[in-house]
Amino acid sequence: MNTSRRQFLATSTLAGAGLSSGLARLTPVLAAGAAPTIVSAAAAAKPALLGGTPVHAGGWQSWPVWRTAWEPAMLEVLRSRQWYRNSGTHVARFEADYAKLLGARRCLATASGTAALIVSLHVLDVDAGDEVIVSPFTFIASYNAILAHKALPVFADTDPATFTLDPASLASRVTDRTRAIMPVHIYGLPCDMDPINALARARGLRVVEDACQAWLAEYQGRKCGSLGDLGCFSFQESKHLPAGEGGAITGNSDELLDRCTAFHNCGRSTGGFKGSGCFTRGGNFRMTQFQAALLLQQFDKLVQETARRRDSADYLSARLGLIPGITPARLPANSRGVWHLYPLRYDARHFHGLSRDAFLKALNAEGVPGHAVYKEQYFDGLLDEAIASRGFQRLFSGQRLKAYRDSFQELKGNREVCATSFAFTQNILLADRTGLDHIVEAVAKIQAHSAALASAKA
Ligand SMILES: *Cc1c(COP(=O)(O)O)cnc(C)c1O
Repeated sequence: MNTSRRQFLATSTLAGAGLSSGLARLTPVLAAGAAPTIVSAAAAAKPALLGGTPVHAGGWQSWPVWRTAWEPAMLEVLRSRQWYRNSGTHVARFEADYAKLLGARRCLATASGTAALIVSLHVLDVDAGDEVIVSPFTFIASYNAILAHKALPVFADTDPATFTLDPASLASRVTDRTRAIMPVHIYGLPCDMDPINALARARGLRVVEDACQAWLAEYQGRKCGSLGDLGCFSFQESKHLPAGEGGAITGNSDELLDRCTAFHNCGRSTGGFKGSGCFTRGGNFRMTQFQAALLLQQFDKLVQETARRRDSADYLSARLGLIPGITPARLPANSRGVWHLYPLRYDARHFHGLSRDAFLKALNAEGVPGHAVYKEQYFDGLLDEAIASRGFQRLFSGQRLKAYRDSFQELKGNREVCATSFAFTQNILLADRTGLDHIVEAVAKIQAHSAALASAKA
């Protein structure tokens, strides 16, 4: 079976004028023996969008997943009537175990990742009228947590090769109002933290990692979320460790974590932090026992699936990276991603000018669900609404707000990554080898037929 498929490919590669260099370049690797199942007739077949048969007919792993074995623990919480953080024991146990898993000194569980970011920024002394430098290529919650403090989210540029904050763009963003930097380990790809931390130290700034997509990601042998002053995680339903909603703050400073605990618990004094008198400012950002009990069931699953996603990402990168015009993400040296999404950059010049969005339409028609993810969302109205608000108008000069708005035009790296990238969601990386091979086949097939697809489009 394998032989005939290989022979078919060899024949069609040699003979098929329509086959692109992409598939031809893929062939040697495949012939080297890793995965003969990739070698298929798919690239020669008609694209599904033009009436052909989709490469992948089955579905993909659904998300989230639950197991019957988890039911007793959930029922126990229900029947205990101890649902609130300070009545039961699961939240505290989750905090101890999660800190251990990350190699962080402390962890505080929160109601959500957004809550974790809001609490952390308060504790790092971000106040009304301050500025926080943040990566623009992120889920909108990163912007909103800063705006919630009536502080200005100032955007560093994105390095299109890594999808993360370009450390070289930081220094020019610092003003006398800057208090903190919020690097985002987007898609579970670690930011290059050493130069970020070095700049923060030199300028007296605090660092809060948005690690909301980066459970178990590693940089220089340490876990994301333990690299800055505080790290924030999300356990929302789509995430790798899901509890419907949930979040956590991690760090190595007892003083900061005590202050987080107080602020997240209506300002009640905790540990070494007494506040002024009995209370400090605060809110209710607490996790419930149900969330913690559900999270505690999933640690082994997270560890196993993380290994699986890494293998899948390596497998895809080795193959998709050989297709001209398709570029996998580059990680910083000595780091490991966890791939909340698996992103690629797309260069239409290698696909006869077929636009990224037309490419994705053709890919989806093959049964392979790739998506463009973040847009240049600073142009979407949110920030215009914020800076036109009474509070921001009081807190910042008109001159500063105009310069701020104008600066969005300078985010060239971010513009490029928004316009040229796409991604597969994490559940796709839990597919078996056949599923992964189908992804490669589908991309190769579209490239082989990109001239036809581009003209069908026009
Ligand atoms: C999910 C996410 C958040 C927010 O977490 P929630 O738990 O949904 O509030 C923040 N930042 C990033 C990068 C995220 O992916």
